[in-house]
Amino acid sequence: MVSRVIPVESFDLVIFGATGDLARRKILPALFRRFCDGQMPEEARIIGAARTEQTPDAWRSWVADSLSEFVSPALTEAHVDVFLEKLDYIAVDARGEAGWSDLKARMRDDVVQAFYFSVAPALFGDLAERLHRFGIAHGAARIVVEKPFGRDLATARALNATLAAHFEEGQIYRIDHYLGKETVQNLMAVRFGNVLFEPLWNAQYVDHVQITVAEAVGVGGRGSYYDQSGAMRDMVQNHLMQLLCLTAMEPPSRFEPDAVRDEKLKVIRALQPVSAKDIVRGQYEAGDTPSYAEDVEETDSRTESFIAMKLHIANWRWNGTPFYLRTGKRLKARKSEIVVIFKEPPHSIFDEDAGSRPNVLSIRLQPDEGIDLSVTIKEPGPGGMRLIDVPLDMSFADALGPEAADVPDAYERLIMDVTPRQPDPVHAR
Ligand code: NAP
Repeated sequence: MVSRVIPVESFDLVIFGATGDLARRKILPALFRRFCDGQMPEEARIIGAARTEQTPDAWRSWVADSLSEFVSPALTEAHVDVFLEKLDYIAVDARGEAGWSDLKARMRDDVVQAFYFSVAPALFGDLAERLHRFGIAHGAARIVVEKPFGRDLATARALNATLAAHFEEGQIYRIDHYLGKETVQNLMAVRFGNVLFEPLWNAQYVDHVQITVAEAVGVGGRGSYYDQSGAMRDMVQNHLMQLLCLTAMEPPSRFEPDAVRDEKLKVIRALQPVSAKDIVRGQYEAGDTPSYAEDVEETDSRTESFIAMKLHIANWRWNGTPFYLRTGKRLKARKSEIVVIFKEPPHSIFDEDAGSRPNVLSIRLQPDEGIDLSVTIKEPGPGGMRLIDVPLDMSFADALGPEAADVPDAYERLIMDVTPRQPDPVHAR
């Protein structure tokens, strides 16, 4: 398989929070990999912005250190010097007045402008207001914001209103890195690009659906953040809800953002309130590793590091089919998957002791992205008709060659989606 890289248009990307953890671990390595792959045009520039007073050279050398930690040494060695030439740095305080006029002077009007808000959400409003007041962002500029997008409905609405005061909805890119994963994008292709599944994708044939995002690690160094959030806010209301919507939604009329969003929204609107008996919350205990309470240094913490729940979608397609969502930290293995368990055949023609099991479709998001469909066959050999399950296993890496395993990280795909592609030379007419 040969992957095609279509360069994006030239851009000025400002990363607010350029000295932070997200910039260091995710954003800058993602940009660097896209640069190495040839997707970034020569004139593209990346401007770091944070309160820390430092020279552009000092930031560049911090970036180089981050890349050597998070990107393969071979790639870093080959390309880092040219990449660093694209970088600039400017000290600005989201809540102060200094630095903003300098930032305006450095922005170009004739390229795509993108502003990545990699700072605490409490600063989003200050940034948006200053970008507007100092005339920095032009009418087509885009802003990118990360979770957590508010703590509850009221704070999410307040945050939306703050951004909407200065930017049109079409300019606001809310990043959910789960949606950038190859298999999540593939879920759409599997469901709507094959005639095989769609007729069976309903309550008549699906017994239940399990959506699992299990992490083997604990809360690590993010204890104080995590304890304010918990699994429900950190994972369920964003990532798992998105997976649920993609699994349960009706086919959109076209593969376009608004059409897909409309169908997802219908799923959310059809969700029935979850009763307390259908939710389980827990914390991991000490074993070879410390307990959750020890990790967050809060002996009385009631924040959940594990949550499981049963949901019902009240519409024609799904009435009566439960969806089980579960996620947690420090579980047995790192595993994210959507498993669709079909109903058993309505009538078995075989003896009872032949056994029978439902078909199961597993869509693996990580690790080893791929799809696995269990089908029932006759156990080979003598001994009469005994039924067994065998997997029709399609690992994307096996099926599509080693390049398929080397798909861009979700952040790479999403950050590049903020900037329009140049006309595709293969498909342009
Ligand atoms: P962080 O490590 O605490 O970094 C915060 C950044 O904001 C720093 O660069 C800091 O730099 C800058 N900053 C703080 N106050 C500022 C101000 N008044 N004006 C301008 N810059 C200011 O946080 P992070 O982990 O990078 O997270 C950033 C955002 O992404 C948060 O909303 C977080 O919840 C979200 N997020 C993070 C992750 C992750 O894996 N880290 C994952 C998903 C979402 P100075 O101190 O130099 O100003």
